[in-house]
Amino acid sequence: MKFNEIKLTNPYLNLPQECYDRVEPSPLVKPFLIHANKAVAKLLDMDEEELTTKVFVNFVNGAFLLQGSDTFAMCYAGHQFGHFVPRLGDGRAINIGTVNGLHMQLKGAGETKYSRSGDGRAVLRSSIREYLMSEAMYGLGIETTRALAIIGSEHKVYRENWEKGSIVLRVSPSWVRFGTFEYFAHKKKFKELEALADYTIEESYPYLVNVSDKYLKLFTEVVKKTAKLMAQWQAVGFQHGVMNTDNMSIAGLTLDYGPYAFLDEYDFNNICNHTDQHGRYSFGNQPNIGHWNLQALMVALSSLVHRDKLQKVLEQYANLYTSKYLELMRKKLGLKEEKENDLDFFKHLLGTLQTLSVDYTLFFRTLSRYNGDRTSLLKLGLYHQPMNDWLDVYDKRLKEESVPFIDRSMQMLKTNPKYVLKNYMLQEAIDKAQKGDFSVVDDLFQIAQDPYSEHPQFERWAGVTPEEFKNRKLSCSS
Ligand code: AMP
Ligand code: MG
Repeated sequence: MKFNEIKLTNPYLNLPQECYDRVEPSPLVKPFLIHANKAVAKLLDMDEEELTTKVFVNFVNGAFLLQGSDTFAMCYAGHQFGHFVPRLGDGRAINIGTVNGLHMQLKGAGETKYSRSGDGRAVLRSSIREYLMSEAMYGLGIETTRALAIIGSEHKVYRENWEKGSIVLRVSPSWVRFGTFEYFAHKKKFKELEALADYTIEESYPYLVNVSDKYLKLFTEVVKKTAKLMAQWQAVGFQHGVMNTDNMSIAGLTLDYGPYAFLDEYDFNNICNHTDQHGRYSFGNQPNIGHWNLQALMVALSSLVHRDKLQKVLEQYANLYTSKYLELMRKKLGLKEEKENDLDFFKHLLGTLQTLSVDYTLFFRTLSRYNGDRTSLLKLGLYHQPMNDWLDVYDKRLKEESVPFIDRSMQMLKTNPKYVLKNYMLQEAIDKAQKGDFSVVDDLFQIAQDPYSEHPQFERWAGVTPEEFKNRKLSCSS
């Protein structure tokens, strides 16, 4: 469709007034397009040709609104690093309307009622990180919000230094957070809480609309979705970095990309967020935090459902998580049969990778071509014995399964990505972009969309992370 034919709806505005605040975007100075996502445009019924027009840039800049657009920011609370903050909200994201069930948001489009001391802006580096990584997670088959486009500008934004402002037009089937529920529960606004629960069911779990005990079942679904998401993050080696309850999606999506990281060398205790001094959001602690956050959601829902019933559902989380994680790890190793000691076997592997400082992604990709010759696998580690020990056990498992090598290998190459967007790669894209060269953004976008293919032209990104960039921490400032 052409731009002037598209008509937006704003279903969130049917909720009680407390849930949001109407606010208009404040456009950036001298905006220009950096990248647009054709696949997302299609989901929004937008013609591809529109993406190259000046009108499109104005649209992403919040200077031009489509028909039916009624712009607003959403209100929420959240537990940040374990401490409850009663009011947060979209401090720099402005919702501009919905098409085909996808809600569009301009991140970095200026102040809202919820900006607190912030300026409502997003800088180029953080926007590039969100734009690329949300697409990369989608490419890996992990549930996530996505983005239609990213623009740059000459707008001056102050962080530790002066930087340039940028906007990402994000899209998602849901922007509701655990913290959205916490906001109303804390304020004892139970009517609003119930309206939000009904809205969420309709939006993300429509098959529950007419069932009995629907709020309990809503919680059950969120527990399942969260367990699955945590298992996917752990299996692929993704670390979110800021798993505050305001960054937890009620629809089980990866949400709010900040100082995240893909593991370089495997390190269970890796911390990617500079602010996270005690490792609350360390890689290995993510599944536990998923549980902690669900518990906070449970408390928020307990005016709608008896606490004991919610508690019983929450108790299923550990099993749901573990069985999903085992399933994903078996796939990564090309194993078909479930064994009682699977978890120990995987822990043996992870311990080996940690001891030998092996690159997580490269290991599984290399293993995908393993047919008895250990040379390339042994080369990945500092020394050989632990890897040989583990491979002895692996060989035995493979023998018991008798799946032909070629079948196993093909399945594993579709499961273990050749490329993940490590922070050093994103940094290269950012460094060039700061100088006006967006070619690496384009390249990484291609990889993001198709991480399992070989892409010989990008081979240099398929190896180990250069020493100076390994397991670096990033600041939250964005
Ligand atoms: P985050 O850590 O990005 O999830 O943000 C936590 C809270 O701070 C949310 O309410 C954000 O909207 C708000 N926030 C973050 N950065 C800014 C900013 N530059 N201006 C206004 N609000 C912000
Ligand atoms: Mg956030």
